[in-house]
Amino acid sequence: MDSTQVTISIIKEMAATIEENRQSLTRLDSEIGDGDHGTNMRRGFQAAIERLDNTEPASPADALKAVSMALISKVGGAAGPLYGTVFLKASSALAGKEEVSAQDAADALEEALAGVKLRGKAEAGDKTMVDALEPAAQAAKEAAGSGSVAEVFRAAADAAAAGAEATVPLTAKRGRASYMGGRAAGHKDPGATSTHLLLDAAARVLENASEDA
Ligand code: ADP
Ligand code: MG
Repeated sequence: MDSTQVTISIIKEMAATIEENRQSLTRLDSEIGDGDHGTNMRRGFQAAIERLDNTEPASPADALKAVSMALISKVGGAAGPLYGTVFLKASSALAGKEEVSAQDAADALEEALAGVKLRGKAEAGDKTMVDALEPAAQAAKEAAGSGSVAEVFRAAADAAAAGAEATVPLTAKRGRASYMGGRAAGHKDPGATSTHLLLDAAARVLENASEDA
């Protein structure tokens, strides 16, 4: 499979993973937010799949840009524009590339992280998706020196899992959960959880693709 097809497969697996975890994401968001994160993400990824089916992207960057546009236009709330930024920055980082190397993948995650931090003004420790994406980008960077694209995403996904878990005791400084003050402690952040799920979906597709190769 070429990188464009792999990227499309990853996006489809992301959509399927969001579908499977919709209720648990919504439950997390009802504990510290307004209970719509699963529904928001599902609406966005369904729109992304429709866009992909209608546009036949010619490169990984094109495919990621289609996702970004769908998320920005179809998802209200905080997560839509923020994840829209993630995919837009990843798309820009891969512009003009037909094949994606391990280093390209790590660079794309780093750009995505920088975009989210700029747009949402959250830092690590604020109990947001940044708590998953920042360690993920860091782990990706370390893995890119010697690993494959699949290994880069596996390292990123595992670091995101730990980062999401580490949001449990935190008090939120950004987003709706910040209105809850200390009551947000004891609950895992929904956006950090979805970031882990999305990266894990990518890692699984890449691992399968490399087994098939
Ligand atoms: P909303 O909060 O508008 O209902 P969602 O429920 O879809 O939107 O998404 C909530 C998630 O968005 C949070 O769990 C958090 O991870 C993330 N989030 C909220 N605000 C920010 C921010 N400023 N920067 C980064 N992530 C944020
Ligand atoms: Mg919400």
